[in-house]
Amino acid sequence: MSRVAVIGGGISGIATAYYLQQHGAEVDLYESGRSIGGRIGSESLDGRFVDFGGKNIGRKYSRFRDFVTALGGLDFEYFGFNTSQVVGGRVISLNKEKSRLRNLLRVFSLAGPGGVMKLMPMIQAVRKDLEQGFLNTPYFNAIADRYDDRSLASFFPESCVDHLVRPVTVRMNGAEPDECYPGNFGSNLALVLDSYEQLEQGMQALLQRFTQYSKSVKFFIGHEVRVCSFSDEKIVLHYAAGSESHSAEYSKVVVALPAVQAAALFQSSIPELASLLDRVTYFPVAVGIAKYHDAVFRGVQRAMVFDNSCSISNAGAYGINDLNLVRFTFSGQTARTVIDSETDPEYAVSLAEDTIAPYFNINNNTREAFVYRYVSPGLCAYSPFHYKLLQQIEQQLKGFRGLVLTGDYFRGASIEACFKGAQEAIQKFMTGAGS
Ligand SMILES: Cc1cc2nc3c(=O)[nH]c(=O)nc-3n(C[C@H](O)[C@H](O)[C@H](O)COP(=O)(O)OP(=O)(O)OC[C@H]3O[C@@H](n4cnc5c(N)ncnc54)[C@H](O)[C@@H]3O)c2cc1C
Repeated sequence: MSRVAVIGGGISGIATAYYLQQHGAEVDLYESGRSIGGRIGSESLDGRFVDFGGKNIGRKYSRFRDFVTALGGLDFEYFGFNTSQVVGGRVISLNKEKSRLRNLLRVFSLAGPGGVMKLMPMIQAVRKDLEQGFLNTPYFNAIADRYDDRSLASFFPESCVDHLVRPVTVRMNGAEPDECYPGNFGSNLALVLDSYEQLEQGMQALLQRFTQYSKSVKFFIGHEVRVCSFSDEKIVLHYAAGSESHSAEYSKVVVALPAVQAAALFQSSIPELASLLDRVTYFPVAVGIAKYHDAVFRGVQRAMVFDNSCSISNAGAYGINDLNLVRFTFSGQTARTVIDSETDPEYAVSLAEDTIAPYFNINNNTREAFVYRYVSPGLCAYSPFHYKLLQQIEQQLKGFRGLVLTGDYFRGASIEACFKGAQEAIQKFMTGAGS
């Protein structure tokens, strides 16, 4: 395969470049930021790298784990699945270290009989075939056909929405249940049914390894592609590097960006495609990770989700043994009204501390350091009848040889789903669909 341009150095672009290399292609990777990683990435907190996006790696992330192995392997540490919430003044916990029966009974009591009736077939579909836990699969496309004229908020009964559905959508999609749709819910369930680990050295180590490993990838860091146009069977990328503008021609291009950023590239050349991409919703998210002098959590209860009266959706221990490191996530509607790109990080973290103070050891516990990141576009919440939108996007692309799109709006907003999306993007070149 000839030289291929990949636009975007997030995990979708990295996965695409990795698979292209495996197929013997030379890759030019364009990344507008100062480093690769995009929404995944680490920052040093008191000498230790901690992750903002992409911290939790599912045990079922087979594609991503194969990638880590191909890079020489990195150590993982167990994180599990641990959450709690206040219901009627009582703290209710779900915890993978406890018995399955106990957790099931708790889920049943939180979902109520009506919720269980609707959830069980979906859960069984994902359990039976893990691949149904990505976006755009036969089982959930049929659900979309029947139910995507309503949101999750009206699909599930109220108790199930408040106690099970909302904690999942604000965390994974940055969205309220009335901003998410049943046909996409399989991609959430797959994540809920998994159990988690994290990279001991953080994503930073992985990104470094990838840069060293990728002999056939030329990294164009700080190169922002502004327009994608077409001339004589070639795809022309118009990009800015510092204050200079340039262009480069390719016969094959993979656009590995969030839909909203991909849309900007095609505004003038394929406006119909741009307007389809603009229909995919993204919501902002902010993450603060703070280190305290003493343990904030008790060992068994390491995380809590908060309802829509709070600006944080979740607060949890960074690792199973890091009970003095707290990861605060600000997402959902209330967070959007309180936190924006201008918010003082100190203000945001103090607000989060006030919220968790009644439940955890935070008062009189000295905060020694913290890091904070606001991300927009942050979390993808897709669209109603999303698979039909994807079909329309593919239809548009048919007229443009050599152009393929991927990203977290194709198979889901998880690292594993980004790898699946990248794998399929490359397949389009192999099978001739994108060539
Ligand atoms: C706070 C947070 C926590 C998360 N936690 C988890 C988790 O624990 N586990 C999990 O599996 N998933 C998690 N996710 C989801 C996962 O991180 C994302 O789905 C994934 O990182 C998306 O990667 P991407 O490459 O598609 O997009 P991005 O990461 O957004 O990458 C796009 C890249 O393209 C660059 N770019 C943008 N425009 C241009 C342009 N015009 N020219 C050149 N370059 C451009 C950007 O700088 C960026 O580097 C989390 C996400 C967030 C935000």
